[in-house]
Amino acid sequence: MTKYIFVTGGVISGIGKGITTASLGRLLINRGFKVNVVKIDPYLNVDAGVMNPFQHGEVFVTHDGAETDLDVGNYERFLGVDLNRQSNFTTGSVYLEVIEKERRGDYLGQTVQLIPHITDEIKRRIYQIGKDNAVDIVITEIGGTIGDFEMLPFVEAIRQMAVEVGRENTLFLHVSLIYTLPNGESKSKPTQHSIRKLQELGVHPDLLLCRTSQHIDNSVRRKIALLCGISEDFILEGLDTKCVDEIPLNFEEQGMGHLVSKKLRLERRATLDAEWIAMVDKLKNPQHKINIAIVGKYTTGCDAYISVQEAIKHGGIANNAEVHIEWIEAEDVTEQTDLDALFQNIDGILVPGGFGDRGIEGMIKAVKYARENSIPYFGLCLGMQCLVIEFARNVANLKNANSTEVDEQTPYPVIDLMLEQRGIADKGATMRLGHYPCVLKENTISYDAYQQPIILERHRHRYEVNNDYRSQLAAAGLTLSGVSPDGSLVEIAEVAGHPWMLGSQFHPEFQSKPLTPHPLFRDFIAAVLTHQHQVKNSDLNRG
Ligand code: GLN
Repeated sequence: MTKYIFVTGGVISGIGKGITTASLGRLLINRGFKVNVVKIDPYLNVDAGVMNPFQHGEVFVTHDGAETDLDVGNYERFLGVDLNRQSNFTTGSVYLEVIEKERRGDYLGQTVQLIPHITDEIKRRIYQIGKDNAVDIVITEIGGTIGDFEMLPFVEAIRQMAVEVGRENTLFLHVSLIYTLPNGESKSKPTQHSIRKLQELGVHPDLLLCRTSQHIDNSVRRKIALLCGISEDFILEGLDTKCVDEIPLNFEEQGMGHLVSKKLRLERRATLDAEWIAMVDKLKNPQHKINIAIVGKYTTGCDAYISVQEAIKHGGIANNAEVHIEWIEAEDVTEQTDLDALFQNIDGILVPGGFGDRGIEGMIKAVKYARENSIPYFGLCLGMQCLVIEFARNVANLKNANSTEVDEQTPYPVIDLMLEQRGIADKGATMRLGHYPCVLKENTISYDAYQQPIILERHRHRYEVNNDYRSQLAAAGLTLSGVSPDGSLVEIAEVAGHPWMLGSQFHPEFQSKPLTPHPLFRDFIAAVLTHQHQVKNSDLNRG
């Protein structure tokens, strides 16, 4: 019998439901249960694919090619499993499906309504996850804040599910804010109101997680318990923390695993906590410190590169290093920029993915600087394309080489629209998406990292290296170390003779996990450490 946990949020958006959900998932896995997670987004976009990163943060890509909310990335990293396109759906996708069914005549003339047709479709999708994956527990996170109009069908659907599967097989977890006044007083009234609101809709939270900047005392707990009817020991706190990976351990310390198991009548099957504890310990006790510059387009105030940040951190864990990220807005890197000053304390440079022409020349300048100064460089998707463009211009003598995404008139279109992309007008879900195999060449940085001839990596792009220039680029010293099995697509390029300069057409960051750091990020960070060491030594010798 699959058990269902539903996570809702109160008072403010961005309260940390995603990390809470992921952390709860981790601690249930540590107890030996099989867990799957789904994020529901109450907006009308069909998926996250065409949403603005400034507004919505990163688009996370699952192995089966869904463009999802960044929380799915958090789930994969905390759970240590690969999820799929079932793990994220929106109001838009539910309506689309119901309306398509109506047009096909599937409803046999019935009046199609919010209740039951939309709510049934929501329930069907959640139940399906339990069935398809044969899991013990499905955790469903409902995006948005209780009180939002657009959440109502989802709250109604989970209320009905609790009736259908039985209250003993359901747990409602509400994540809410305890506000601290400047005088240090903790205020619980907004939380009480959000719980009341939820109760008016027929959902009675079993477990309350209070997000707070300071410990909440027992009087606050007692008050919430009395006024909202939640048992005092089921009121836990989620203190602000810098280290998100520590959160499952904080929850476990407060007995969350035990409380959830008690409510859902689940017996602990295993004690698998040790690996996670050891990882957090390594993270918190690094032996080295390095600085990596990310030169990109969405460097301020959004989580557009969250998987990249996390993967860098994982590479750090594998090398006992704490990595500080220096964000550099690509557009600000111009002819006038003093690159020596800009990269003065930088030990490695990374250019992440992106679309459009904004900032490209700045990224290419960063690539050139890394190549000429033997600074380890890692290019992801667009960052790989910039590596190829820079190499074409400055090493292979293809002056003004470019990507046709940036300059359609370039004399040397070394990056060009993929054949299969020509003629596609729709923007949603039409890129080359999801995982594809890639064959590695021996004796390359890539092969050294992966130690296997064929890998599977996740993609999200429309452009690729133009095969017409492959031989010229190779002759000038660009190693095409990874290609598609039929040889038609370049997937990895490396600069021969440089200590570590590599670009991948795919996004390795999507597969990196704290317990299994991605081999390319691991080796990039190792190369960065070596570089830092060499620079320090040569400074010492000089000094
Ligand atoms: N804009 C480039 C392309 O479509 C790179 C995409 C990316 O970085 N994800 O090919």
